[in-house]
Amino acid sequence: MSEIELKYSTCFFCTSVGCAMKVYVRDGQVQRVAVDTAAPVVPGAFCVRPTLAKDYQHHPFRLSFPMKRSGPRGANQWEQISWDQALDEIAEKLEAIRRRYGAEAVATSSGTGRGAAEFAKTRFMNLFGSPNRIGVITICYAPRAMVWFATFGGHLVPDRKPGKTKLAVHWGRNAHEGGPSSWNSFLKAKKAGMKTMVIDPRFIEPSRQADRWVQIRPGTDTALALGMIHVIIEEGLYDRTFVENYTVGFAKLKQRAGAYPPHRVAEITGLSMDAVFETARYYAAHQPSNMVIGVAAEHGAPNSIQAIRAINLLRAIVGTVDVEGGELISSPYPGFIPDVCMEANEMLLSEQRRKQLGSDRFRFLGYPGWELIEAQMRKVWGERHAAAVNLHSPAHAPTVFRAMLTGKPYPVKSLLVSCSNPLLSYANTKLVYEALLSTDLLVTFDLTWTPTTAISDYVLPAACWMERPDMGNFASVGGYPLVQVGEAAVPARVPGEYERLNDYEFWRELGVRLGQADHWPWKTFEDVWEYRIAELMDAEGHSSLEAFVHHTRAKVLPPEAGRCQKGPLATPSGKVELYSTILEQLDYDPLPDYTEPDIPEKIKKKYPLINISGVRVMPYHHSEFRHIEGFRKRHRDPIVEIHFDTARKKGINDGDWVFIETHLGRVKQKARLSNCFHPRYIVSQHAWWFPEMDAAEPSLYGLWECNINVTTDDDPDKCDPLSGAWPLKGEYMRCKISKA
Ligand code: SF4
Repeated sequence: MSEIELKYSTCFFCTSVGCAMKVYVRDGQVQRVAVDTAAPVVPGAFCVRPTLAKDYQHHPFRLSFPMKRSGPRGANQWEQISWDQALDEIAEKLEAIRRRYGAEAVATSSGTGRGAAEFAKTRFMNLFGSPNRIGVITICYAPRAMVWFATFGGHLVPDRKPGKTKLAVHWGRNAHEGGPSSWNSFLKAKKAGMKTMVIDPRFIEPSRQADRWVQIRPGTDTALALGMIHVIIEEGLYDRTFVENYTVGFAKLKQRAGAYPPHRVAEITGLSMDAVFETARYYAAHQPSNMVIGVAAEHGAPNSIQAIRAINLLRAIVGTVDVEGGELISSPYPGFIPDVCMEANEMLLSEQRRKQLGSDRFRFLGYPGWELIEAQMRKVWGERHAAAVNLHSPAHAPTVFRAMLTGKPYPVKSLLVSCSNPLLSYANTKLVYEALLSTDLLVTFDLTWTPTTAISDYVLPAACWMERPDMGNFASVGGYPLVQVGEAAVPARVPGEYERLNDYEFWRELGVRLGQADHWPWKTFEDVWEYRIAELMDAEGHSSLEAFVHHTRAKVLPPEAGRCQKGPLATPSGKVELYSTILEQLDYDPLPDYTEPDIPEKIKKKYPLINISGVRVMPYHHSEFRHIEGFRKRHRDPIVEIHFDTARKKGINDGDWVFIETHLGRVKQKARLSNCFHPRYIVSQHAWWFPEMDAAEPSLYGLWECNINVTTDDDPDKCDPLSGAWPLKGEYMRCKISKA
């Protein structure tokens, strides 16, 4: 038996955090995984996902070979084929679609950006000629990132420093379930004596731990932030020096916030007037502070972007931005080639960009907004501006699904799905299902079988994080100047046993077959990293990626306070834009404002409850890991939380199965009675399916049983008018429940 080898890899069992892992390997087999505590990016102690690494790699539910459908769609009949056959046939079909309908008739779907090879998909699509990349990034992260770029000219990065930072705020973020690193950081802040505040409709673990819990009505974050701005300005609690020297639009913001006196905000948010005053004063009195904004604001259509804007403007006026212990403005990492330089954005012609579905209506997140922001970044930072990657400008998924179904405004005939599970992750499952079935070619490149693979024409096996070299996604998308690279711990291909490609190889191989060979000079993913970190390797005296990973591993350049003084920021005015000239150019309101969804009385009567959906549950990550028995033992069934009073009226007991119903459909989840939120709400879990159920139609692994997106709506008229984010919380989530 050979010696155990130690490999330094990057975990991607969850969203693009990329925690550093040590993987112990013998004879090409993973023996054990441990957190690499010497590296800068590590998970919170309570993250259990890496414990499954050994079982995960060879789990029978993993995809191991390319499969081609051999019966009718959804019949679960497959023929194993070679990678060459799969890629040749897919490329031929894509070329035929491009010739007949145009390149825009091919779309891609992304999940939560697993790994740092998302650029490869964008590169492929730019070279192919299609602007139609869709993804859940529309409802998770892209809105926040684009608001930061438009407002501050960069990401805001918390500079948590005991002794300096006075307050840690979690706004709409249950880090206990969804963010191991930020939850750890929250607990550490508390231990270090910082005050803590949680803004959330539910009395969850972070609310319990916080010094102050603000129980807001879901979807009304914009109004609360504007009400706080109102109080802070009226009472002179803002940072006059910062506002006068480094921001534009204060007078206009003051005027807008004037329309949000505490009594009006109390009516909208469900808080008392005193609570609005106290929250504003408490926040202003404890500066500098750090804040984590969760997906709740993004899920609150029609207020998504303006909610995120309002919360960020609140931060901008209290003197926490650009000061030590507060929130710093990120800058690119010198010597590192960021994603935006890898995407071949210049290759997509303007006439093709203008065809991006949904971006005529939802202009902030599509190409129109991206082009304005990218130009500002380039002006200040040059070509390697790091931020504003094209990933942040997706096509509008609900519009793309409707184009598949109707052929309007033009036909979309193929969807290439990579590490994404559209039947679980997008709203309005029935419409998504019909849209996918209407395509001529549905290809899914993923880690395991899923309901989406079950209806695909080709199913292709992707390498997991242990099988590929990867890095934390920080510097690559401009989030933080931190380069932390890892290596593949075990091979992705062992002939006869399993043959997986990593994301980079997959898009490259497909691209080469479609005439893109000249644009993919790096043969392997290792070559890509050696190219991107060449200057860093030189500076450290390393001649190979392996040497860099083993001896340097990570380079960090923390942003410094005082960026505003050095100016200009990467915004049109060069300052923090309280009044957004980018939104103005896009013909949107440059200042945040709250919109109350207009729900007809008869709907309110028929569907008296409001579903808070999309909450995360440890150990799952969205629709993943349901096949891991150890995890299912901890958390076997989907849970809907119902207030005791509501349950009593309906005759529902703890543990009963309960139907959740909207105008779109009905699913069931198991009741857990609670008094942690208002009786008008229920809290449901998303992305549930059952690998143990039949893969074939009509079951599709139990797709229609408990998947909450069967009941959620993606009607473009209900989406956020700036970003197109569809509602998952707030008034548009009206429903009713009954005992099943
Ligand atoms: S937080 Fe995410 S990336 Fe980090 S160890 Fe846990 S699953 Fe892996």
